[in-house]
Amino acid sequence: SQPPIVLDVNGIEVIYNHVILVLKGVSLQVPEGGIVALLGGNGAGKTTTLRAISNLLKAERGEVTKGSIELRGERIENLSPADLVRRGVVQVMEGRHCFAHLTIEENLMTGSYTRTSKAEIEANLEKVYNYFPRLKTRRTSQAAYTSGGEQQMCAIGRALMTNPSIVLLDEPSMGLAPQIVDEVFHIVKDLNAKEKVTFLLAEQNTNMALKYADYGYIMESGRIVMDGKAHDLANNSDVKEFYLGVG
Ligand code: ATP
Repeated sequence: SQPPIVLDVNGIEVIYNHVILVLKGVSLQVPEGGIVALLGGNGAGKTTTLRAISNLLKAERGEVTKGSIELRGERIENLSPADLVRRGVVQVMEGRHCFAHLTIEENLMTGSYTRTSKAEIEANLEKVYNYFPRLKTRRTSQAAYTSGGEQQMCAIGRALMTNPSIVLLDEPSMGLAPQIVDEVFHIVKDLNAKEKVTFLLAEQNTNMALKYADYGYIMESGRIVMDGKAHDLANNSDVKEFYLGVG
């Protein structure tokens, strides 16, 4: 039997500054326990799609003007980002966004604001360190002095501190050496398998994303132009010609 759909994005349009139509009817579905990749080049609309889901468009003067977004069958377009976090939807922004002047551990602790039980927070921190042993080693280092890979791990770790059921991961490979990208994706796969965290990840690095995802959507100019199982996309001749070897 098919796993239930966690996230159902149905024909959304997004307009920036009241005039610039950026998403022109995007539909996608993320099944429970899946790793779904949202692929496409620079400016295709991947970040906008993630921001629409986590209701982070307002700060960018963007709004969803058509379509619907459902979390386990419930409309969520009007929930605040904080409410979404409480319901298990958290976004890891592009560019990592660690607090440079805080230590790794302090950064992780900023992710526990929805939790009140000290024991639970401690347990979450241990869990994060268990998946990201590098972060444990660097726990007292100021984030500014850690590597790009460690900062990306820290950003994912902070999201995990909220006990998410679905993580929206924006361009995790950006600016990282291939070996580190592999390390990060490997941990994502592990979290998916062992903690049952569902992932929707936006990536320009098609090769890497299709290696770890089970399903992919390809975006171009604000539309989904192709979708399929990761394995089928990776072997598709159009995908090979236009997207593989990019990023
Ligand atoms: P990237 O990998 O570069 O982030 P992307 O696929 O995530 O690319 P988006 O960042 O979603 O693409 O951008 C989609 C389009 O929307 C681009 O043409 C971009 O210029 C435009 N855009 C993004 N943010 C804004 C904004 N705040 N105001 C106006 N236009 C915007």
